[in-house]
Amino acid sequence: MTVPSNPTAQEALVGHFINGQPVVLPGSRVQDVINPATGAVCARVTLAAKATMEEAIASAEAAFPAWRNTPPAKRARVMYRFKQLLEDNADRICALITAEHGKVLDDARGELARGIENVEYACAVPELLKGEHSKNVGSGIDSWSEFQPLGVVAGITPFNFPAMVPLWMYPMAIACGNTFILKPSERDPSSALLIAQLAHEAGVPPGVLNVVNGDKEAVDCLLTDPRIQAVSFVGSTPIAEYVYATGSAHGKRVQALGGAKNHAIVMPDADLDNAVSALMGAAYGSCGERCMAISVVVAVGDAVADALVERLSAELGRLKVGPGTGAGCEMGPLVTRQHFEKVRAYVDQGVAEGAELVVDGRGLVVPGHEGGFFLGGCLFDRVTPEMTIYKDEIFGPVLCVVRVGSLQEGMDLIDAHEYGNGTCLFTRDGEAARYFSDGIKVGMVGINVPLPVPVSYHSFGGWKRSLFGDLAAYGPDAVRFYTRRKTISQRWPSGGVRESAQFSFPSMK
Ligand code: NAD
Repeated sequence: MTVPSNPTAQEALVGHFINGQPVVLPGSRVQDVINPATGAVCARVTLAAKATMEEAIASAEAAFPAWRNTPPAKRARVMYRFKQLLEDNADRICALITAEHGKVLDDARGELARGIENVEYACAVPELLKGEHSKNVGSGIDSWSEFQPLGVVAGITPFNFPAMVPLWMYPMAIACGNTFILKPSERDPSSALLIAQLAHEAGVPPGVLNVVNGDKEAVDCLLTDPRIQAVSFVGSTPIAEYVYATGSAHGKRVQALGGAKNHAIVMPDADLDNAVSALMGAAYGSCGERCMAISVVVAVGDAVADALVERLSAELGRLKVGPGTGAGCEMGPLVTRQHFEKVRAYVDQGVAEGAELVVDGRGLVVPGHEGGFFLGGCLFDRVTPEMTIYKDEIFGPVLCVVRVGSLQEGMDLIDAHEYGNGTCLFTRDGEAARYFSDGIKVGMVGINVPLPVPVSYHSFGGWKRSLFGDLAAYGPDAVRFYTRRKTISQRWPSGGVRESAQFSFPSMK
C-alpha cells in the first residue's frame, strides 16, 4: 500500500469514472499527486485494485452491443459536441494540467489544441468507416469489406501529455463503435477525469468511456483480461516492450509507443538564428519532457558547432524558468522529485564521462518556489556516442551537442541509435534535405521543422524501439487499429435453376 505523505490533508481525492459516474471505491490504495512547482501535495489519487478493474471492464462490455449498433453519424454528432465542450472548458483543463504536470499554461493550451484535433478527425467517422465494394467478383456474386469495431479496448498513457495522448486514442476508438477503458498516468490524473466527464456530457453513454486510475496492478488486469480486445500504450520503452509482449501473449492487438532520443542535424548552410530559436523551443519546451523533444544537436563542422554553442548559451541565459502559472515563464519544473533527481544525476554523469558542460542548470532556485523541482536548462558540448547522456533518454532540459564532419556521418549516428521517433535537418539545401528525409531510419522527419508531430489526419509513430506494433497512433492508422476488417461475398441465385456441386477451388475460369 502506498501511504500518502499527509493523510489528514483535505486535498481532492481523485477516483475513477466508471459507467458514467465518478467512483471512489472503499479500500483502494492511495498515492499523493504533487504540484511540481511547489513540491506540495495537491490531490490524492486512488489506485484501482482488481475489483475496480472488474467494474470498469464489465461496464464497458455491457455498453458495447448498443454502442456498436448506434449509427456512425450519431456517434459523430457526439464527437462534435465533445469538441465544443473541450473548447469551452479549456481553461479548467489546462489549469489542472499545469498544476499536476508543471508545464507552462501556454504549452498546456497547445497540448489540448492538438488533442482536440483528434476529436475533429473522429467527427469524420462515417466517411472513414466506409467499406470497399466490388460488384460481380464472380457470376452474380458481389463482395465487400467492412470495418467492424473490436469490442472493449484499453489505453494506457504517460504523464507528459495528460490530455493529448488519451485524446489520440479514445475519440477514434469510440467513434468506431468500441467501448474504452483509459488508464492515465497516476502522476497527473485529474485532467483525464474531467475530460471523461465532458465526454459523458456530450452524449457518450455510460460504460462507453471509463477511466480507471492506477498503476501496474491496473495495467496487468487490462493486459491479461480476455474481454479486452486491444491495447494502445504510450510511455517509456521498457514498459512499452512489456505491454506489447504481455498483451500479445494474451491474444490482444497491441500498439505500444515508447521513448525517444531525437537528433537535429545542423548543416553549415542553415539559417543559424532560426535554427537556434527552433532548437530552444524543441529542447527546453515542457522542460524536455516530450517524446519529440530534440535532445541531441548534431553539428556538421566545428564552425557550426562553435556558433551554435555560443548562441544557445546566450539564449539559455535569457530562458525564463518558473512556475507554469507565472507570467512570461517559458519553462516549468520537472514532474516529480524522483524524476528531477534522475535528470540531475544524468548531468553529473555527463560531467564525469568527460562531456563539456557549457551551461549548468543545477542549483537553480526559483524565489518563492524553493520546494519546486526546477532544473535550469543544461547544455553539453563535445558529447560522444559512448556516453550515457547520449545513449539514454534523459527526458529533461538537457541538450547534447555532438560534432561530426558530414551529413552522412550525422545520419549514420542517428541510424545507429536504438530509438527512431523524430528527427530534423536544418539546411537551405534541397538536395541534402531530400537525401536525408528519404534515407533516415526515423518515423517522423522535419526539414527546418524541429517538432515534426504529424497532424491528426496523418498518423504518429516512430521506428525501431520507439514503437512496438504495426500500426501507429491516431489518423488513418487508428481507424484500422480500432476496427477489424470483414469481407462478405454474397450471391442470390435465380430460383428454380439446379446447380451441380463444384469440387475444384472456386475461380474465374
Ligand atoms: P511510463 O512508461 O513510466 O508510464 C506510462 C504508463 O505505464 C503509465 O500509465 C504508468 O502507470 C504505466 N506503468 C508504469 N510502470 C509500469 C509497469 N511496471 N507495468 C505496467 N504499467 C506501468 O512513462 P512516463 O514516465 O509516464 O512517460 C514518459 C515516457 O513516455 C518517455 O519515455 C516518453 O518518451 C514516452 N512517450 C512516448 C510517446 C510516443 O508517442 N512515442 C509520447 C509521449 C511519451
